[in-house]
Amino acid sequence: MDKMERLSNTVKDLAVGGSAVAVGIATTKTLEGGPPSTDLNCFLPEARSAVVFALPLDQGAIEAFLKKEDMAAGNVDNRRTNTMASGIALEMAEYLNMKGYESVPITANAVYRKDVPGGAYAEIPPISHRYLAVRSGVGHFGISGNIIMDKYGAGTILASVLTQAELIPTDPLPREDNYCDECGLCRAACASGLMSGDEKTTVTLGGIEFSYAKRLSYSRCDFVCGGFSGLHKSGNWSTWSPARFPIPEKDEEFLPALLGAVEPFRNRIKPDFGCNIYHPLVPGNRLEFTCGHCQFICHPDKKVRQDRYKMLTTSGVAIQEADGYVKAVHPDEAREHLDKLDPETRALYE
Ligand code: SF4
Ligand code: SF4
Repeated sequence: MDKMERLSNTVKDLAVGGSAVAVGIATTKTLEGGPPSTDLNCFLPEARSAVVFALPLDQGAIEAFLKKEDMAAGNVDNRRTNTMASGIALEMAEYLNMKGYESVPITANAVYRKDVPGGAYAEIPPISHRYLAVRSGVGHFGISGNIIMDKYGAGTILASVLTQAELIPTDPLPREDNYCDECGLCRAACASGLMSGDEKTTVTLGGIEFSYAKRLSYSRCDFVCGGFSGLHKSGNWSTWSPARFPIPEKDEEFLPALLGAVEPFRNRIKPDFGCNIYHPLVPGNRLEFTCGHCQFICHPDKKVRQDRYKMLTTSGVAIQEADGYVKAVHPDEAREHLDKLDPETRALYE
């Protein structure tokens, strides 16, 4: 076994030992022809390889979150899994640095390029963990655009390390093993309508094509997953956001809607989970994780997917009590609750 083979095995073992359930290696060659977010040199000149890995979310917390029984469980698990993934990236990068290969950790989430028009608010990641993951065999693309895996569905968090070491690349998974049957439940579970129903995005990475549903304006997900609003247009269910400002139809209507919902967002009490999520782009910096439905719905077993969709669509709608506690109630009860609020308080929600 040569030196780079040994080093490749070591970094994989390092990730698995830290609780990663899959690890892959992509290189400048296997990413050739990809979009700018696959340019390994963007953050590290002369980077030759990237290690990408996935940590699983807690499936029990996912279901309690979808049923709207427990908002805290999903938030705490999300925060901790992100922190663990980013921590492994740091540990791996420092290991490689100590071995003489300049390396940079790319944290799991909430880091954006500042050197592009619009700065960090353009929300362009330094590197796409997803593209690296699909090319290096960590998982497949679901039509949602999320990385899906045989055992964990889309319920994983990804992080990466860029390195000047010339590691040995890993192959993509066989296309025929992808369980995504385009059931459409990820799309149905998205109150923002981020995923196009008829158009696909295709990327070519090192001569291999990968496709998923075209994503419409990311302001859609910012508005809904960001917690600014969350009532599905049916009025029957919501995300964990207690706000119900109308969710627009057209891409160009989302940014104004979001800007209009900033002050109410800032002024609403944030539930304290004792393990809170901070995000540099969120007004007031405290993020309430309220959605993630496209990720949480997607399970390898179609029956589980259907059950989860039912859990979500019968979970009721979120309201916030005076002390900040958010709970789910029947849509009629939510209406009565909002109607009883004084106008100033009510304006925080609708
Ligand atoms: S929910 Fe269905 S359509 Fe969406 S990614 Fe999963 S399997 Fe594919
Ligand atoms: S996180 Fe929520 S709002 Fe964002 S794309 Fe997924 S389902 Fe839609």
